[in-house]
Amino acid sequence: MTHFLPSTEPVATAARGLALAHPGLIEVHRDPLFLRTRSSAPGRTVALVSGGGSGHEPLHTGLLGPGGLDAVCPGEVFASPHNRQIHAACTAVAKDDGVLLIVKNYTGDVINFGIAAERLRHDGVPVATVLVDDDLATDGGDTATGRRGTAATVVLEKLLGARADQGAGLGELAELGGRIVARSRSLAVAARAQTSPATGEPAFALDPGTLEYGVGIHGERGTGTIGRLPVDELVERMTDDLLAALPAGRERVLAVVNGLGATTGLELHAIGSLLYDALTARGADPLAIVPGTFTAALDMAGFSLTLTRMEPEWVGLWTAPADTPLVLPSRTLAADGADAAVVRTTAEPEQDGPAAPSGGAVLDRFSEAVSGFRDDLTALDQLVGDGDFGDNLLGGVRRAVSRNGARVGGMEALARAFLDDVGGTSGPLFGLLFQRLSTVSWPDDGAPDAGSAAEAAAAGLAAVQRVGGAEVGDSTLVDALAPAADALGAAARDGADAPFTAAAEAAARGAAGTADLAPRRGRASYVGERAMGVPDPGALGVALLFTALADVYEPEAATGLPDLRRIAAR
Ligand code: ADP
Ligand code: MG
Repeated sequence: MTHFLPSTEPVATAARGLALAHPGLIEVHRDPLFLRTRSSAPGRTVALVSGGGSGHEPLHTGLLGPGGLDAVCPGEVFASPHNRQIHAACTAVAKDDGVLLIVKNYTGDVINFGIAAERLRHDGVPVATVLVDDDLATDGGDTATGRRGTAATVVLEKLLGARADQGAGLGELAELGGRIVARSRSLAVAARAQTSPATGEPAFALDPGTLEYGVGIHGERGTGTIGRLPVDELVERMTDDLLAALPAGRERVLAVVNGLGATTGLELHAIGSLLYDALTARGADPLAIVPGTFTAALDMAGFSLTLTRMEPEWVGLWTAPADTPLVLPSRTLAADGADAAVVRTTAEPEQDGPAAPSGGAVLDRFSEAVSGFRDDLTALDQLVGDGDFGDNLLGGVRRAVSRNGARVGGMEALARAFLDDVGGTSGPLFGLLFQRLSTVSWPDDGAPDAGSAAEAAAAGLAAVQRVGGAEVGDSTLVDALAPAADALGAAARDGADAPFTAAAEAAARGAAGTADLAPRRGRASYVGERAMGVPDPGALGVALLFTALADVYEPEAATGLPDLRRIAAR
């Protein structure tokens, strides 16, 4: 079971939680259960009441308040509210010109809201209903049930809330609501069904590599199961289907990217960007791109797109202020597409590199080694961290290879790539090391000056420690770098034959030794004792670097170096 819901009265408990989060705005009525706003616009003459099964939050309760709904009747998860809830809510909030019911088109909702409406009329309360049936996937067919109501409800409730605040009467609001629905269509896709609260299992099974196209917000299967498309193609296909179903016209389109519960903000924003492009490429003019989870299907992994072809007077209703728990973005896009160019880049200043850039051989050798070790480094970082170290290191090296050239030496290219472009903890730390090492010449034929190299390595170590704060023994890359810098310094002072091999050997031993240390810095420190026996991936990266230097400058001596693969495999 992945849900965290109380076993008794989950819906009423959540209603109380919403009211506690918005004191003074929302009040819960128990038995029958409904929520109402305690604050509404003075000019409003019609109360807006909605509701439906729970599990779609923030719909509808998120729209309670000035500029939105007067009352909401939540049913149990995916089940219609009882007509008694609706009747009581309407009786409590009805205004002089009565009540407008906003009902998503599902049989249970239609019947219960319908019975409540009959009872209210019997009581002498004026009532009208707007039926939301925006789901394109249920268009056509030969049933009498019609299209389902889904995420266009949010658009409808926002626009009607603003118009009701302006004092519009019941007939006008009902007619406006009908036009908004008629000019709105939605389409949903899912990669994984929601978890059933009853069984704890996904409500339906989807083969990996497939998507449910035209899925419903209660786990109703889609109109078809399709092979997984790249998301840009998927958005284009959905946009084509939706635009074909909207009334034709040149009016601007409001575009909602709705998460179905388990789709992240990162995904929804990216989909919004793709949707903007898909719309403009088809000659549609987006008024606003609105990403967020508005109408969920519990924790379904999927999203829906809703397009509303806006009448010009509706724009002001969309941007009108509201005081509801759900805050919808009210900014609109410039009509001429000027907002498409929201992305700017900073051009890298041309810098003069050293007179004779060098280090290409070192970079090539290091790049080869890192490519060969990427999977080992990934595996180690999965054990003690988050698994990205292999890609961080390889990504930086690849960037450096592409920068290396007539004006930028190999070590300098590494420094720039790692300092500027590589993320993670290790990226910029390696960048500092390469930056110090790049002050030395790394000839492609001949040998570098060991003394200067040792000073540069020591300066790199000092910079890494200043920024990262790690000491020897903390199980980080410092445990390979510190002994390597020491060994290089000692070998340079002694005039040893193979100073880089000595440094590489020290780095390898240091890296191997981290397996016996409990990490005290970085992400690995969170796993504590469980990191015992696992060598630190960053330290292994440093050993790869010094081994590459030894391979290039002291190929004979380097043949006797420890096998880093065996260290990685511990
Ligand atoms: P992140 O934890 O941000 O994903 P990376 O995966 O890029 O970082 O790098 C992990 C490596 O960073 C570790 O293996 C360790 O060698 C090194 N590291 C972490 N913290 C420090 C620190 N404070 N000082 C030096 N190196 C560190
Ligand atoms: Mg990591």
